[in-house]
Amino acid sequence: MAISFDPEGYAYKCWEVIGNKEYAIGKINNEGRLMDINEKILNRQLFGADTLEDVVCSQCKYLPICNGGCPLQRIENKFDNGHNCNCTFYKGYMAEFLKIHIARKKAIEFQSTNK
Ligand code: SF4
Repeated sequence: MAISFDPEGYAYKCWEVIGNKEYAIGKINNEGRLMDINEKILNRQLFGADTLEDVVCSQCKYLPICNGGCPLQRIENKFDNGHNCNCTFYKGYMAEFLKIHIARKKAIEFQSTNK
């Protein structure tokens, strides 16, 4: 588990929310100990975004690609009535993306063999 800190010593599970104290899991003191732990926020961030507990994601064939999207957005959806869409932009368009990918690969290969 990675933890990021803001200049005031507040600790965050995700760097996306550094400085937003609503998401701080605690604050580091002068001895380097994490104090004032916000157990609600910490537990949400440790256990609240499990994709295998999500009935939709756990059955989705795109789960290996997107892993359920941003965990914090999932937590907002689950606990704070959020409406974030976490689905990968590949969802429903895999065939088209593969065609584009193959065409680009062929173009790069063609360029490198015709130098
Ligand atoms: S594409 Fe959407 S439904 Fe599928 S695993 Fe990702 S977030 Fe879940």
